[in-house]
Amino acid sequence: MENHLITGIHHITALASGAKANKEFYTDVIGQRLVKRTVNFDAPEVYHLYYGDAAGSPGTLITFFPYEGLVRGRGGAGQVQYTRYTAPKAARAFWSDRLIEKRITFQTAESPFGESLLRFTDPDGMGIEIVFTSELGPGQPNGNPSANIPADAALSGFHSAQLHVTQASPTEAVLEQLLGYTLAERQGAYSRLVAPGKVAAPGHYIDIYANNQARALQGAGSVHHIAFRTPTEASQRQVRALVEASGLHVTEVLDRNYFRSIYFREPGGILFEVATDPPGMATDEPLETLGQKLQLPEWLEPRRAQIEGELAHLD
Ligand code: ZN
Repeated sequence: MENHLITGIHHITALASGAKANKEFYTDVIGQRLVKRTVNFDAPEVYHLYYGDAAGSPGTLITFFPYEGLVRGRGGAGQVQYTRYTAPKAARAFWSDRLIEKRITFQTAESPFGESLLRFTDPDGMGIEIVFTSELGPGQPNGNPSANIPADAALSGFHSAQLHVTQASPTEAVLEQLLGYTLAERQGAYSRLVAPGKVAAPGHYIDIYANNQARALQGAGSVHHIAFRTPTEASQRQVRALVEASGLHVTEVLDRNYFRSIYFREPGGILFEVATDPPGMATDEPLETLGQKLQLPEWLEPRRAQIEGELAHLD
């Protein structure tokens, strides 16, 4: 049964060891906009920082919990190993020059599906790749104008995420049967699945790498979870019902201020979230000034002075 309840990646959330280095990398090096400066609602002494395109659109959002001094994690099964951004084909020389200028070590590589890419890590060792393709249309408005990245080289959100598991089929089955993905291609240990809907949308692909590998250990530089986007609260309820009927444990709908979320762990061990497109990043502050001021949910406002005093300075 085909369903169109999911339209791609909504956001990817990861762990970092320091807020300042994290912000410098995502805004100054790869030119994303800090679109939300808030705290971990369950641990408000820790930031929750969101980076994305100028509007903080789903499909471009990467978010971090920077725990100061957190020990690095280790890659392996049960984790998202590479977060991939898209850049136009003609921007490859720009990006290799820029990484050299910013003293970021990188490798040039080809994806298992034939795309040219640059592979590097963020300051915590998290795997980032830029895929050069003209498939996903023109670049989006530059997230961070002060990073001085020309519009025709800017990243235009996610291309895909590469999930590492020990066996492909249980994870593929969840993507296909519950989230509506279609298997597009298989190359050895790699498979590529494609979300329903139009290909030009960011975050359209999920790649799986299946191998008998040790389990990942979470720490700084690890992806904590990957969120898939769903258009409405009604479509989210439909996904939730499908997940529940499959026998997987799924949470109730949780209010994350900028989206509503459900979570479940897929059989390969990776934490999946399904997040609604609305209300979005501009629900509690104007689009023009996203990310400049610390935003707190109502119940934490009475503790603002104390919380601000404990957080590292970012600017
Ligand atoms: Zn999330």
